[in-house]
This record gives sequence, structure tokens and C-alpha cells, in this order.
Amino acid sequence: MQIDFIIVGQGICGTFLSWEMQKANLSFVVIDEDKPFTATKVASGVINPVTGRRIVKTWMIEDLMPFAWNAYTSIGSDLNIDCIDQKNIIDFFPTPQMKLAFEGRFEKDQQFLSLPKDENDWRDKINYEFGYGIIDPCYWIDLQLLLQAQRKNLISKNQLITDHFDITQLQVEDNKIIYKEITASGIIFCDGANGFSNPYFKNLPYGANKGEALLVEIKDMPSANILKRGYSLVPWKENIFWLGSTYLWEFENADPSPGFYQFAKNWLTQTVKLPFEVLDHMAAIRPATLERRPFVGFHPQHKNIGILNGMGTKGCSLSPFFAKQLVENIIEAKPVMPEASVERFAKVLAR
Ligand SMILES: Cc1cc2nc3c(=O)[nH]c(=O)nc-3n(C[C@H](O)[C@H](O)[C@H](O)COP(=O)(O)OP(=O)(O)OC[C@H]3O[C@@H](n4cnc5c(N)ncnc54)[C@H](O)[C@@H]3O)c2cc1C
Repeated sequence: MQIDFIIVGQGICGTFLSWEMQKANLSFVVIDEDKPFTATKVASGVINPVTGRRIVKTWMIEDLMPFAWNAYTSIGSDLNIDCIDQKNIIDFFPTPQMKLAFEGRFEKDQQFLSLPKDENDWRDKINYEFGYGIIDPCYWIDLQLLLQAQRKNLISKNQLITDHFDITQLQVEDNKIIYKEITASGIIFCDGANGFSNPYFKNLPYGANKGEALLVEIKDMPSANILKRGYSLVPWKENIFWLGSTYLWEFENADPSPGFYQFAKNWLTQTVKLPFEVLDHMAAIRPATLERRPFVGFHPQHKNIGILNGMGTKGCSLSPFFAKQLVENIIEAKPVMPEASVERFAKVLAR
């Protein structure tokens, strides 16, 4: 088989990269081992424009939000699915200090923030003491639906191989790469946290960050909003909510932990006034980076080996944007934005 590219991995990065390559008429195959608990499959799917205790806007959000809306609407229309919805965050203040911080930020800048007409309107469903603010707009991506739909699309075009990619079988030559019976002009790794040990990119400053979540059934809880009170309760399907998450830089393994399960169950008991049932418990490693910017582009020494990784906590907003930049780089030789390009690590990657 002779093609333009091999893509390793079909998380959110491989999904958007393969879609951009389809639109650009590049020939490729995706090799993905279809594991049940990857970062994209465990993620809640929220695009939240503000972050942290000081409620600051996230990096490039004014460009990323409209871009994401168009990208998810457009891929959804190609795949015949609705995978993006606006679901604003009801941000219940855990302390009086957080209420003051939100109100202070709201006074300075009202983009993305609003205050409710009646602070009491969640009292019959949620326990909260200090009122709430609203983060608006926020988007929710149905990642499970999107991944499955693009997988089906790739299979129908003979562009997906469900298998483990064994890097010891990769032969890299100046103008081509060979993997088993496939010869391609290049290969692009979208292998998420597995990429930390990739011999070509292992010197990049990755930071493994573990997150856990529960899936919970709560009948009669409205599903138009994401509810946040420390943890977030994200409406996934009818009566089913995703509850999470932790952000752990140190951990023993990637498995769901009894500690989180107990903590999250206590949170439910203390926060939610409606009956609930825990259905599932999931965990995954986020492919985060120490300087919180992604890794995009081609290896400075091996021009036919590329990467789209390091999306950290922001895969939903960053991956569509940078998948497009990477394909524009391939087709039109347009440079990838310097803050995201792997060229910035040329010295480290030369070692
Ligand atoms: C609990 C949790 C909550 C999160 N919530 C959000 C959120 O609300 N919003 C947001 O934007 N981000 C969120 N994230 C972060 C987001 O999940 C990641 O940024 C994003 O999913 C990374 O996507 P990826 O495609 O790089 O990696 P992955 O999703 O890990 O995909 C990599 C793929 O490559 C495959 N693969 C790897 N190695 C091989 C190999 N050798 N052979 C074959 N296949 C291989 C894997 O099986 C996988 O399918 C969350 C993460 C976690 C853990």
C-alpha cells in the first residue's frame, strides 16, 4: 500500500487530523488500537472559556471558540451527527471569596460571565450556600458520538486499521517511511499519553496528568447546563451525568482509584438533592505539557515524522484548530503558530 500518511491514534487529535486530510484529498490510514479508556473517551467534552480561581480567559479563547463551533458543526454535518451544543456553566461559589472573585471579574469584563436574576432557582435540586454565577457561552462536545461516527466513516473508506502500532517495526528513510506492508511519505503521531515514550518525541516536556470521573444517573435533573461546585456535573445522555474530575500530577497508575470514588460519592450526597445511582467509574491520563501549549508539526531532524499532541486539559478546543494548521502546513507550507510548533524544541529534539 502506497499512501501520503500514516496517522497513529484516533482520539480527538486523530479524528480531526483524519477529517482535515479527507477534505484535502490526502491519502492516509489511521492505526488505532481502540482502547476503552483513553483521554478522549473519558473526557467530559466541555469548552469552558475561563479558568482558575481568578476566572481568567484561557489562551486564544476568542479565536478558539468560534473556530470550534464551526469545526464541530461542519464535521457533524459531514458525519450526519449533532456533536456540539451550547451548555452554559452554572458556577456555584464554594466560598464567599470565590463569589467576590467572580463578581469582581464580572465588574471588569462581562465577556463570558453573567449573574442570575434569581440566585435561589436551583435550591430544590442542589445544595449551595453562596449563590452562583454563569459562564456563558460554554460548549459541550459529544466526544463518544464523534469518535464512533468518524471511526465508522474511516472504516467505510478503508482508512482505519484497528491494531497496536508497533514502533519497533517502523523504518524511516529520507523520503519515505515503511511500516509492515505500508509505504508512506510521512507519519503523524496522535498517540496521546502513549506518545510520552515515543523515541522521536520523548524529549519533549510532557507532563502526565491523571483525571477520573463517574457516570451517574440522576432522574429529573435538568440537562441544559453544566453544574459546577468544585467538581462538575456534565449532562451526557438522557438522565446520565459525567461527574469529575481530578488533576493529578503524581499518581501510582492510570486505574480508577477507590479514593476518588469515595470522594465523588460524598460530593454527590452533599451537593445533589435528587436520588442518584453511580453507573461507572473511569480514569485516563491527559497528555499535558509543562508549559501548557501543544506540540504540533514535523520533527526538525526527521521531516517526515510529525506530531499532534500535548492538548492537556483543552483537547476539545485545541485539536480542531491545530489539526487544520498541520494540514495547511503540509499542503501550503504555511508555518504552524510558533507557540505550538515543535520547532521551538529543535535543540531538545536534536539530542
Ligand atoms: C477526566 C478527563 C476529563 C477531561 N475533560 C476535558 C474537557 O472537558 N474538555 C477538554 O477540552 N479536554 C478534556 N480532557 C482532556 C482531553 O481528554 C485531552 O486533551 C484529549 O482527549 C487528548 O486527545 P488525544 O487525541 O491527544 O489523545 P487520546 O484521546 O489519548 O487518543 C490517543 C489515541 O491513540 C491511540 N494509540 C496510542 N498509542 C497507540 C499505538 N501504539 N497503537 C495504536 N493506537 C495507539 C489510543 O488508543 C487513543 O485512541 C479531559 C481529560 C480527562 C482524563
